[in-house]
Amino acid sequence: MIHLKTPAQIEAMREAGRVSAKALRRTGELVRPGISTYELDRFAENLIRMEGGTPAFLGYGGFRGSICASINDQIVHGIPSKDVILKEGDIISIDVGAVVGGWVGDNAATYAVGEIAPKTQRLLEVTQQCLRNAIEVCHEGNHLGDIGHAIQSLAEASGYGVVREYIGHGIGHDMHEDPNVPNFGKKGRGIKLKNGMVIAIEPMINLGTHLTQGPFEDRWTVFTADGSPSAHFENTIALTPNGPVVLTAE
Ligand code: MG
Repeated sequence: MIHLKTPAQIEAMREAGRVSAKALRRTGELVRPGISTYELDRFAENLIRMEGGTPAFLGYGGFRGSICASINDQIVHGIPSKDVILKEGDIISIDVGAVVGGWVGDNAATYAVGEIAPKTQRLLEVTQQCLRNAIEVCHEGNHLGDIGHAIQSLAEASGYGVVREYIGHGIGHDMHEDPNVPNFGKKGRGIKLKNGMVIAIEPMINLGTHLTQGPFEDRWTVFTADGSPSAHFENTIALTPNGPVVLTAE
């Protein structure tokens, strides 16, 4: 069941979005060769708590971090660790959410660690553009499939693989609410979008095949099937009569 939000509820969700966005941006600024994903996680959790929130991911389904830190061919759900030290040429996807006042915000971005290969840089840029294109179609009367189509059409035209198994989601009092928001789809298909919907759109785009593997021993981290790098960008978006509003903004 989709929980439509009132304008006052959307206003309240802005604070969760703001804290989530600040945690992502500030943690992203620390990305550099030599830092561990554990240190990034500690920083993000402290920031969220100092801003009056609680980390949305910590303890979720037993997850042990406040961020997901996914390196290179890891698509999503990488577990922060003292043993994972970033090095020049890596990319890292940081996914972080905060709960404030009972509302959840969720966002992600992929960062370059120092200098990265031009083809990987391009992957990051195109994935971010996929997210922008998807946000643009978030208007009442459009269809859920329009969002997936906006992402898939640009990603595949660029020669990339669109992850199928992991998708965006409705968000509100719970981190994962209806509807599911796939990163693939056909124009005009799926349910109609309505004002009051709040959704997390999160394209996961691979430089190679769309196929995934894992999780393995750690029961969380998902990898590309061919070892190619994967990028991930996410925002929490409210549909309003004035158009889409990015709630994960400072
Ligand atoms: Mg999400």
